[in-house]
Amino acid sequence: MIYDNVLEAVGNTPLIRLNRMTGPEDAEILVKFEAVNIGGSVKTRTALNMIETAEKKGLIHKDTIIVEPTSGNQGIGLALIGAVKGYRTVIIMPDSVSEERRKLVRNYGAEVRLVHDAGNIGDCIDECLRTALLMAEEDSNVYVPQQFENEANSAAHREQTGQEILRQAGKPIHGFCSGIGTGGTITGIGEALKAVNPGIEIWAIEPENAAILSGREVGTHLQMGIGDGVIPEILNQKIFDDIVIVTDEEALAAAKELARKEGLMCGISSGTNVAAAVRMAKKLGRGKTVVTVLADTAERYFSTRLFQ
Ligand code: PMP
Repeated sequence: MIYDNVLEAVGNTPLIRLNRMTGPEDAEILVKFEAVNIGGSVKTRTALNMIETAEKKGLIHKDTIIVEPTSGNQGIGLALIGAVKGYRTVIIMPDSVSEERRKLVRNYGAEVRLVHDAGNIGDCIDECLRTALLMAEEDSNVYVPQQFENEANSAAHREQTGQEILRQAGKPIHGFCSGIGTGGTITGIGEALKAVNPGIEIWAIEPENAAILSGREVGTHLQMGIGDGVIPEILNQKIFDDIVIVTDEEALAAAKELARKEGLMCGISSGTNVAAAVRMAKKLGRGKTVVTVLADTAERYFSTRLFQ
């Protein structure tokens, strides 16, 4: 089969069982391996759905400039789509996210503007958003998808990622856990899985230094892509039963273990998700099935502690 363009090949990533990170008394863990998605992350799905929804609604046209504040992967996804569809794209990012992210965005032909992260990632993301909205005020051709409040973000996961997981698993899923960036993943996949099994246990995961839902202080942390220090509008706060906290050290250790024990090379937030999934697998026990997402590829973390 030949795809007409790379966007047609987005999604349909494998669901893979972990074999050496769980014990015989634990539930099995299945991971949705988004590292091999087009664009190297789960966020190509949401970028595509946001842009195609905006096209259908007539919100964008050939002269549109797409401008988005993002801690990384959403920007890479939008830059890729801009390249294929011919939209000029400007990505506004905290300067604390990995250098690889900037380079990837630029190599897709998009522009990067950096905002200084002075130690509070939430303030920095707010400043990125203010910059984007100001650009939209000054130029009517600017369209800001606003992933934190765009319903097409969580819809991509409810209608696509979540349905893929259900089809691939082909059996009941008893637990799901996910870190929260925009909340699109936990909301969309959570709603899709809960619609089929209302008794499913769902955990929201927060980095220790950005546990805003847990009422803790927000600082900076290494689990980039989640814990942006804001409570996103599209997050369905009723979808999760519990909130668990994962430290940077636990996330790094789990990400390294995924590579060494399972051959799954992925980013730090994937470590976050698996650290929590291992706890959930112990709690639910043998015979049950837990699902989580490995959100992106490790290859955008060479400059971070994941490779030290
Ligand atoms: N991990 C990484 C690496 C990400 O880039 C993102 C997206 N921000 C997430 C996890 C979280 O996804 P979501 O925005 O759907 O909550």
